[in-house]
Amino acid sequence: MPGIYRIKVPSPDFPRRVKGHLEAIGTGLKELIVPNRVTTQYPRERRKLSDNFRGMLQYDIDKCISCFQCAFACPANAIVMKKAPNGKYYPCVNYAKCIFCHFCVDVCSKGAWKASKFMDVAFPDMEEMLLTTEKLLRPPEVEREDERSVEYEFRAGKLIMKKHPFEDITQAGKD
Ligand code: SF4
Ligand code: SF4
Repeated sequence: MPGIYRIKVPSPDFPRRVKGHLEAIGTGLKELIVPNRVTTQYPRERRKLSDNFRGMLQYDIDKCISCFQCAFACPANAIVMKKAPNGKYYPCVNYAKCIFCHFCVDVCSKGAWKASKFMDVAFPDMEEMLLTTEKLLRPPEVEREDERSVEYEFRAGKLIMKKHPFEDITQAGKD
C-alpha cells in the first residue's frame, strides 16, 4: 500500500545472545571473586576530590570592581549583574543555568571568584537556584578532607581503594 512502510523485524541472533549472557555471568563471577569496585557508598563514603575540582562558586565582594567580565564570559548566561544600593553592580548566579565551567573564576582579574569543592547541594525550587549577591556572600560549606574521604589509586589498570574510611574504626578493639 502506498505510503506505508513495513519495518523488518530482525531475526533473533541466538548465538550472540547466549555469548552476551555468558559474558555477563562471567563478569559477575569475576567481580565476586576479585572485586574491582569503583562505586562508593555515598554519602557514607566520598571520593577525594582533586585540587582543581570545579564545585560551587565562592564570591568576595571586597575584591569585585564591577567590571562585568564574568557576566560577559559566562557561556551559559548564568551571571546577571544587579545594581546595589551603593550604585555599583554585583553579580548574581543562576545555578539552574550554571554549567560549572569556571570561566568566571578564570576571567576575573581581581580573584573575586574562587572555586570550592562543595557540590552536593539541593535547591527546593528554581527560584532558590538564583543566588543573589547577598546569598553568594554566604560561603558554601567547603568539603572537609575528613575521615569519610576515600582515596583511590590506579594499579595495573584497576581502580583500587587505598584506605577504607572506616578501617580504623573496624580495626579498633581487635588487638
Ligand atoms: S569579573 Fe570579577 S571583578 Fe569583574 S564583576 Fe565579575 S567578580 Fe567582579
Ligand atoms: S561556572 Fe561557568 S556557567 Fe557557571 S557562572 Fe561561572 S562562567 Fe557561568
